Amino acid sequence: MFKLTNTLTGEQEVFEPQDKETVRMYTCGPTVYNFVHIGNFRTFVFQDILRRQLSSKWKLKHVMNITDIDDKIIARSIETGQDIKSYTADYTAAFFEDCDQLRIQKPEIIAPATEHIGEMIDLVNRLLAAGYAYREGDSIYYRISRFPAYGRLSRLDKRELKVGARVEADEYEKEEPRDFVLWKAAKDAREPRWPAPFGEGRPGWHLECSAMAMKYLGDTLDLHCGGIDLLFPHHENEIAQSEAATGRPFVRFWIHGEHLLVDGEKMSKSKGNFYTLRDLLNKGYDALTIRYLLVSVRYRKQLNFTLEGLKEAQAALDRIKEFLFRLRTAKLEPGSNAILAGCLANAREQFEAALDDDLNTSGALGAIFVFISEANVALEHGRLGEADRMEIQEWFKVIDARLGIVPAMEHLVLDDKQAEQIEMLVRQRNEARRNRNFALSDQIRQQLFDRGVVIEDTREGTRWRQK
Ligand code: AMP
Ligand code: ZN
Repeated sequence: MFKLTNTLTGEQEVFEPQDKETVRMYTCGPTVYNFVHIGNFRTFVFQDILRRQLSSKWKLKHVMNITDIDDKIIARSIETGQDIKSYTADYTAAFFEDCDQLRIQKPEIIAPATEHIGEMIDLVNRLLAAGYAYREGDSIYYRISRFPAYGRLSRLDKRELKVGARVEADEYEKEEPRDFVLWKAAKDAREPRWPAPFGEGRPGWHLECSAMAMKYLGDTLDLHCGGIDLLFPHHENEIAQSEAATGRPFVRFWIHGEHLLVDGEKMSKSKGNFYTLRDLLNKGYDALTIRYLLVSVRYRKQLNFTLEGLKEAQAALDRIKEFLFRLRTAKLEPGSNAILAGCLANAREQFEAALDDDLNTSGALGAIFVFISEANVALEHGRLGEADRMEIQEWFKVIDARLGIVPAMEHLVLDDKQAEQIEMLVRQRNEARRNRNFALSDQIRQQLFDRGVVIEDTREGTRWRQK
């Protein structure tokens, strides 16, 4: 049973697709006016984990929009003298390159706003016809007072409603729900515009998501996700638009991810406290480490970003890498060890249970590390069999499919033969230590060091890694 916290009810609920077969999910994609920062990527990685979890159980149809028209994009393209299409194409390409590096899987459908203007115009027409939209000047606005359920998702106090007050920008005061713009008349001759029966203009941001989500996924979606900052007004407005047009519930499960913080504040472009993926790669961190850090905290908890945290993520990944390497190169007897097999079954169960429990990724990682400790002890004492190795390797494939955090073995510098020699030297050194021949054991340690290998004596036995 897969449980998720539904913002709509504030409760953990058992999730199942409406038709029991295919999950229909919509996630709000990036606004492509600049490089996406790793705060944004926290949300995209959480959505990727959700994607992977859902596809391990059902078929999945996941739609993500690309906001390739908005106030900021227009301003930047005018500033740089580049036309909007090529300006946004560059940043869209950069976004997907970053996603690849972070092992974020591609949604089944990627929907750029500017390729769906027709659907947006249809939706405005429906809202106008039903009295939910009105014209003011040359723009069209949504009449919030016509939609009594407004504010239910974000639990807004209705007294705060500024009935009749309008806002037309894409970004505005978050606290004041006002009639929002559906279709904007162009103010500047350089602004892009599309013809529509109600006048030339361009769509508002909220309209985009409603129109594209319903086009591909029908009137009622199974899941809709985004970062918590999108809850109000963006998602509230999406509900108002969609439900007014169809008379049906728009979304069954709303899922919101918490923010990535820096010094207790939300990482954001406007505060200037952000790193892009490229910034961190230039500092020498690798993309897998960044992904690991983002995965290591459950999506509903805030995550404070520090370089120290990245180092810890690196250490955790090294631990997995070392273990897998050791496992691959160990000389094993045929057969299986019952105790170890029991530990593995237990770890697998806990891993699944953690992910089923509202994507408790930190719990899932915990189960992996408990198992690695147990398996290291078994390896150290020659109590791990060939059959166990196969099973463990199979499990790590599952882990990688679900979390996307298992280091690729091809990146290791040593080949199997070299690793075997190192294992042999480590065994000889342990033997020397047992015989209290410390001169020999130090000599072997040095020999290993000269070959680029560091060894550490831990309670679980001796471990080694490449420098
Ligand atoms: P935007 O391109 O600004 O529309 O944002 C893309 C996604 O990133 C949205 O789902 C936002 O909620 C999310 N987001 C923005 N800042 C952060 C942050 N600091 N931590 C986590 N998610 C964020
Ligand atoms: Zn959206």
